[in-house]
Amino acid sequence: MNYTVNDFGFYGNFGGAYVPEMLFKNVTELKDCYLDIIESNEFKKEYSNLLKDYVGRPTPLYLAKNLSKKYKSTIYLKREDLNHTGAHKINNTVGQILLAQKMGKKRIIAETGAGQHGVATATVCALMGLECIVYMGEVDIKRQAPNVARMKMLGAKVRPAISGSKTLKDATNEAIRDWIANPEDTYYLIGSVVGPHPYPDIVARFQSIISKEMKTQLEEKTGKDYPDKVIACVGGGSNAAGAFYHYLNNENVALIAVEADGLGVATGKSAATTQLGSEGIIHGSKTLLIQNNEGQITEPYSISAGLDYPGIGPLHAHLFTSGRATFIGVTDKEALNAAYRLTKTEGIIPALESAHALAALDKLDLSPNDTVVVNLSGRGDKDMETYMNSNL
Ligand SMILES: *Cc1c(COP(=O)(O)O)cnc(C)c1O
Repeated sequence: MNYTVNDFGFYGNFGGAYVPEMLFKNVTELKDCYLDIIESNEFKKEYSNLLKDYVGRPTPLYLAKNLSKKYKSTIYLKREDLNHTGAHKINNTVGQILLAQKMGKKRIIAETGAGQHGVATATVCALMGLECIVYMGEVDIKRQAPNVARMKMLGAKVRPAISGSKTLKDATNEAIRDWIANPEDTYYLIGSVVGPHPYPDIVARFQSIISKEMKTQLEEKTGKDYPDKVIACVGGGSNAAGAFYHYLNNENVALIAVEADGLGVATGKSAATTQLGSEGIIHGSKTLLIQNNEGQITEPYSISAGLDYPGIGPLHAHLFTSGRATFIGVTDKEALNAAYRLTKTEGIIPALESAHALAALDKLDLSPNDTVVVNLSGRGDKDMETYMNSNL
């Protein structure tokens, strides 16, 4: 089985570039140049220097002794929470901003739901001195005020999307409209392994630094460069793609992807795409998504803003249907419990998204010989209000 993208932008049956004719030129320009640029020595050098000195990589692979004792196996945490800006998202925005620069683009656009990707984009635009416009649903602007303030302080313009449900998918529509209107000077910076080809491949390559470091770190600590299991949460799927990337063809490694069940898959308040979704086209790519009988996208729900997405990237749709990865659902409540447990046992407050990955430990048959890596995608500062209101 092949898990990398083919020449037409497909992972198995999923992916491709289903874009309006007016975007064809933009997408083709990117597709024709991205590999030459990111595989050049000059790019690799600049990218790895920024990852090291700006982002703070390599992130530690931490042996969580107390958690290991509880689960009677060996559990490591890949500490993406220690990155600059608090999550894995900066690995991707640093890479894409260099790509945009090399393409001669002067103006950066992005969309954001919870604001995490917007902040990571505004950060690298400030660093490079590039104009930054972030589209965000009007509803999200209201409920994510701290991230809106961060983006503005970083110099980004936050433009409200006022159509439809005024959330992420409406912000995406606005960003695409902007890109159509400004094809020459504008770079569209996408935040997960979603969107038309080549975006899923671009983002997966930039996030693959996570499993690249894991290999070296595991080799040092265990004498073997792979674990028995890797666990990561999936919103669009970028931190999971990065944590799985160098193990996709190593069948000794079980890949565990964790989705947000929200209040429960049967309640209609959920973001569990593999359980509730079907094949369709979202954001320019053929994948699994949650939709009604008329093919209209259903508004997803999760307590965690980063997992509150109605689809998954095409790589993950392929990993699911081929059986290469196992998908597990975790409810809001289970994630909250896991967040409190990690905080009390290890002194680490995780992001709510990452807490979903931690909660999956309860649902796996772990043996004393198992070495498990949980990708701790981000830190919990942004979620303090939710934690305080959760009465645990
Ligand atoms: C955005 C985010 C996610 C979800 O995005 P993926 O593309 O699925 O990784 C997960 N964890 C954190 C901390 C995030 O900010």
